[in-house]
Amino acid sequence: MNEQHCGYVSIIGRPNVGKSTLLNHLLGQKISITSRKPQTTRHRLLGIKTENGNQIIYVDTPGLHQDKHTAMNRYLNRAASSSLVGVDVIVWLVEALRWWDEDEHILKMLQGSNIPIILAVNKVDKVKNVNELLPYLKEVTAKHAFETVFPISAAKGDNLIELEQKVTQLLPISPPFFPEDQITDRSERFLVAEIVREKLLRRLGAELPYRITVEIEHFAEEDNIIHISAVIWVERNGQKAIVIGHKGKNLKEVGQSARLDIEKMLDNKVFLQLWVKVKQGWYDDERALRQLGYKEEY
Ligand code: GDP
Ligand code: MG
Repeated sequence: MNEQHCGYVSIIGRPNVGKSTLLNHLLGQKISITSRKPQTTRHRLLGIKTENGNQIIYVDTPGLHQDKHTAMNRYLNRAASSSLVGVDVIVWLVEALRWWDEDEHILKMLQGSNIPIILAVNKVDKVKNVNELLPYLKEVTAKHAFETVFPISAAKGDNLIELEQKVTQLLPISPPFFPEDQITDRSERFLVAEIVREKLLRRLGAELPYRITVEIEHFAEEDNIIHISAVIWVERNGQKAIVIGHKGKNLKEVGQSARLDIEKMLDNKVFLQLWVKVKQGWYDDERALRQLGYKEEY
């Protein structure tokens, strides 16, 4: 048998570049929520993949946020920076043909780090003219001593097998740290709350601030049905009305699509109840954040 590799891999990059999409695709299962809105990912989350005796432990992190003025953004930045230490490999995602200030900021943070970095140029499926891609790849390759640069599509799955082979090669030789069938370090409760939050983010337009969080109050199996009740916390009564929608339409649709995803994840029939409640100022209150589960865990 070949030697076994095992280690931690950070997936980093600016918000919206496709980190969670990549993680879900690599794991073949949804554990990290995605949407077009920044701040979709708020927690550090492990995605574990064991194949042929090798184990890759992916760390999905919130993007770095430049606005440091709220407790939430400070929390997100701590979670994101901590992913740059103590890992064996970094996969840094940028978007094809784009180079943002935030990318420049990340490049500065990485300078001086001796962790091997793979640059993954994502969303290449959006590039109409391949001739444009080559000069871009050349330009970004020159920015740092990367292990390698891969054009990928996290959404379509292009080049991900090659990416994963390279990642595995770079991991230390070690037996697996986690049991073979474990795919994340998070509880089902946590994943359920995240699915509800994803549906809210997708369902509600720009009018709703992302100042929303979800707390699971009840999670129990009775008569082969999993009964779940969740509270959606908002900051103001006006936001509550928006979340509920005209005649409860929004909340109903969020509940329906969340239930379908949760049933798929848990492989069980689910009864889901959603409540919307107001907690003023939770977003900028360190204590309220901790109560709602935004705790340091690293
Ligand atoms: P994160 O904030 O870095 O975790 O980004 P997400 O994974 O939540 O993705 C942000 C948005 O980009 C979502 O709307 C994804 O569907 C989209 N996206 C991610 N990867 C790709 C890709 O390879 N191609 C295209 N066209 N869209 C992508
Ligand atoms: Mg994400």
